[in-house]
Parts: sequence; structure tokens; C-alpha cells
Amino acid sequence: AGVAMCAGLAACGGSRSGQATGGDAKIEKGATIGISMPTKSEERWNKDGNNLKAKLEKAGYKVILSFADDKPAQQNADIENMVNNDAKIVVVASKDGTAVGPAVEKARDAGAKVIAYDRLIMNTDAVDYYATFQLEQVGVLEATWLIDQLKLKDGATGPFNIELFTGSPDDNNAKYFFKGAWDLLQPYFEKGVLVSPSQHGQGGVTKDFTVEDWQKISVMSWKTEQAQKDMESILDSTYAHGEKLDAVLTPYDGIAQGVINAIESKRPDMKPGTDSWPYITGQDAMEIAVANIAKDKQGETVFKDVNKLADAVYDMVVEIAEGKEVSGLNGKFNNNNIDVPSKLLDPQNITKDNLQDLVTANYITQDRFDELT
Ligand code: BGC
Repeated sequence: AGVAMCAGLAACGGSRSGQATGGDAKIEKGATIGISMPTKSEERWNKDGNNLKAKLEKAGYKVILSFADDKPAQQNADIENMVNNDAKIVVVASKDGTAVGPAVEKARDAGAKVIAYDRLIMNTDAVDYYATFQLEQVGVLEATWLIDQLKLKDGATGPFNIELFTGSPDDNNAKYFFKGAWDLLQPYFEKGVLVSPSQHGQGGVTKDFTVEDWQKISVMSWKTEQAQKDMESILDSTYAHGEKLDAVLTPYDGIAQGVINAIESKRPDMKPGTDSWPYITGQDAMEIAVANIAKDKQGETVFKDVNKLADAVYDMVVEIAEGKEVSGLNGKFNNNNIDVPSKLLDPQNITKDNLQDLVTANYITQDRFDELT
């Protein structure tokens, strides 16, 4: 009965308000913690998973770390495997925030706590906490940088040609990234200073485009190859006769790479470091972006220090395990079912001027940095 009583969060309130009394026993050192990451094929999740695993193992926990190869069914099987191995807490960066629901419900029903890592788990009450970076701020940093480069605040009237991309349609983060950017860019579309002349996005991005339309310009699974294809057709349809492309808003370094590949193959007359090359944004401070920024191919990336995210989630795990109240919560995210108590960290803008900050933050070694730049 204790377990059943505790299946709803409210019934577990006693243990969350400071004392591990009643239904929730403390989680003993040596207990198993599951970490489910979406894929190995994107650089950051390898860092995320391995950082957190190392910290938890150092503290004496057993860790099952898995990567789901961007397949929702695989991720659900990974999480079930954690539950079968008696994981007391599962930390999940979802491939598909909705499809993962049934798996975390099984975890919850087996008595585990569920932490959504970086990406929110949607449409279920089986998520206890969420840790991520200020999501809209990512888009704010990208758009602010573009606005600065194009000198829009100084009254430049353009019109400037900009093409826009958003992230994966099954990732709740992608909409927030776009919202942060679109809220700043849309007024310039309104004035006709920014225009997006391609028909990318089924009818194109016009001043009447809304945040809710974000999936029309999305890139499934954040794939470089799809971004490249989409950009190639944009270039073929709209920029095949020497038209100027001033800027590309992309929400991820892998998408920026696809855009760069397309430009290099379709418009060899555009040269990095000259006025002919567009301003291109990204996210994650991937190695490829470090190289691209050094070579003036990409202008900006949003750096999310995954070491700090691992620290934040590590603290959560330990506090949950010790039956303490989780500290440092500074926000709430609604997942279409409940408000999930959240810890939100600050992302940072990186350009050529402060690229070296990535070394200072221990995100990349000086040697690797020197190889890439
Ligand atoms: C993450 C980003 C990442 C993207 C692609 C998002 O959910 O928040 O940091 O760039 O997925 O992996």
C-alpha cells in the first residue's frame, strides 16, 4: 500500500519537504541510477551522459547509461531495462518527449523518481523534476547577435534576406528556442526590414508567421543532412542568380553545418569572412562549430555548459536519495499535464571574440582547440 499511496506526487509530499519519513525510504548509496540519453550521434549527449555517470559513480552509485540511437522505441526499452534493474532514479533526455511517456510511467509505478534532463517529458504526470538551460534565452542570444550584425538597432533598413530553421518537431525545446528568436525578429519582418524570400516552410516565413508555426521550418532529429537538403532547395529556388543571402537563423551547430555545406556546394561565389557570406547562428559549441567560427563560416553559437548541468542534476539526485528537499529550483515548466519544478541554467553567447572561453570553462582542451582553430 505504501507504494501505491506514493504513486501520486502529492502523496509523497512528506518525503519531499525535508524528511524521509513515511512511504519514501531513503535511497541507499550503491543504488542504481539510470541515465537515458537520446543518441550518440550528437556530440553533446556523449558529454552529458558520461559527465553525469562519472559524478554519480564517484559518489558510490551504480549507473546504467544508455543511448537510444534517436529511436523512441529503443529509448523506452532502455528505460524499462533500468526499471528491471531496480533503478531508483531515472534521468532522461528524451528523443521524443511524448513517446517516452509510457516508459517513465512504468518507472514511476515501480517507485522510481524521474528527472527530465535538458528536454521536457510531455503529457504525463510521471516526471518529478526538470533541469535544463533557460530555453527562450537561447533564441534571444541568437537573434540579438543577428540584429547586432545587421545593425538593425542603428536604423539599417535593408531589406535583408534571412532564412530560418527550427529544431526537431518532437523536441519541446525547439519551440522555445524559436520563440526567443522570433519575438525579437518578427517586428523587423513587420517593418519589411527583414524578409525571408524563399518558400521554405510551406508558404514561407512572413510577418504573419507565428511561434505556433515553428514546425513548418523544423529539422527532424536535428539532422545535418536534412538541413543541408532544405538549404539546397532554398538556394536553388531563391538564390540561384547571385541574390544576396544576409543571414540564417539556425538553432543548432549541426544544422548550421548543413547550411554551410549547402552554401559551399551551391554558391561558391560566397566567401567566408567577406560581405558575401551570411551571418549564421548555432547552439552547443560543438567542435565543428569551433572550427567553423574560427574560419568565419559560422558567426555565433550558444554555449551550454553541460558540466554545470551534470552538477545540477547530480545535486538533485543526491538530494532525492537523501530524502531532502530539492534545492535551487528556479522555475516551472508545464508539460500539458502538470507544472514540473525546474532548475534553469544560463546559456552563453560565443563568437570569434570569446571563443577561448570554451577552454577556460574546461569544455574543450587547449590542445584540441588549437587543432580546430
Ligand atoms: C538541446 C540542444 C541541442 C539539440 C540538438 C536540444 O534539445 O537542448 O542543446 O542542440 O537538442 O541535440
